[in-house]
Amino acid sequence: MENGSAEDCCVKVAVHIRPLIGDERLQGCKDCVTVVPGKPQVQIGTHSFTFDYVYGSGGSPPSAMFEECVAPLVDGLFQGYNATVLAYGQTGSGKTYTMGTGFRDGCQTGLIPQVMNVLFEKIETLKQQTEFQIRVSFIEILKEEVRDLLDLSSVGKADASNGHAGRATLPGKPPVQIRETSSGVITLAGTTEVDVRTQKEMASCLEQGSLSRATGSTNMNNQSSRSHAIFTITLEQIRKLDPVFNTDGTTIDDMNEDYLCAKLHLVDLAGSERAKRTGSDGLRFKEGVHINKGLLALGNVISALGDEKKRKEGVHVPYRDSKLTRLLQDSLGGNSRTVMIACISPADINAEETLNTLKYANRAR
Ligand code: ADP
Ligand code: MG
Repeated sequence: MENGSAEDCCVKVAVHIRPLIGDERLQGCKDCVTVVPGKPQVQIGTHSFTFDYVYGSGGSPPSAMFEECVAPLVDGLFQGYNATVLAYGQTGSGKTYTMGTGFRDGCQTGLIPQVMNVLFEKIETLKQQTEFQIRVSFIEILKEEVRDLLDLSSVGKADASNGHAGRATLPGKPPVQIRETSSGVITLAGTTEVDVRTQKEMASCLEQGSLSRATGSTNMNNQSSRSHAIFTITLEQIRKLDPVFNTDGTTIDDMNEDYLCAKLHLVDLAGSERAKRTGSDGLRFKEGVHINKGLLALGNVISALGDEKKRKEGVHVPYRDSKLTRLLQDSLGGNSRTVMIACISPADINAEETLNTLKYANRAR
């Protein structure tokens, strides 16, 4: 055992073990990851790790992941709590599949589409007493630079007729900047925020952003991505409360409203593999180094948040060490809820990276 028992913590960690895929079968790979029956415990070689949840390969069915890990965060959104879901793992481990950030298989499964279903179902049941405003942004961080995936002018194939509402894109806009308001709210100046009214509009934002996401090719996966992709849903609610009456029947306050605003970040992180393993040239290596900076900072932030003792001592949480952690600052820690899903391949050829991923995820608990 490399860690203690599952204490209640602001960060939950799940492992998602995908099946062996075609390529791995063709190479004659063996399964090198086992799940201890009935426990959220994963074994690889002589190592054993316990997490909050384990899905796939003898663990819980992956279909239970949304309900257990993400649905509570969507509920929290309606109560005004920010939240973050992170998919971590080496390229090819199933991050994009798990999050549903890619539409390249023409497939709409994954966590983000399920978030959309539940979000709009809930809004439907509440809309009598509450006014909702929903906004979506979709950005990626590549080499410590933020790129707006919903900015049609940067895609070069603008299609203004596809039914997106409220899109405001300025020509020649300045680069995106991460800002913090005096009350600690993080904003992204210069990104497109799309007002969406329907699930269809939200899905089309996901699709459009997924298509414009930067991908680079390496010898690990030619669709590999070394950027962090962040799909953010902001939910504003104005709840109309019953008016409060004086004994004589006059109203004390007929503007009795309750305002809540919260956001949910759904993050498909860059591949966690070491730059050397991509076997690429100098340029690619530089990207790798930068991406590691985000993942490194994220690991440090999450581990600082997860450490009860450190938190009580008011230890500095190093949010400012990368764009990724800076951007997620108001949605990691504090009252926010965070779920990290460590995605792994069961194949023996990936054993070294799988072990790295499990160690990283283990630090988060
Ligand atoms: P990543 O985003 O981590 O690079 P992908 O999500 O692109 O990885 O997955 C790599 C390949 O594995 C894809 O072909 C994908 O369809 C497949 N895959 C990933 N997870 C699963 C899964 N749970 N079940 C079946 N196939 C999967
Ligand atoms: Mg991917």
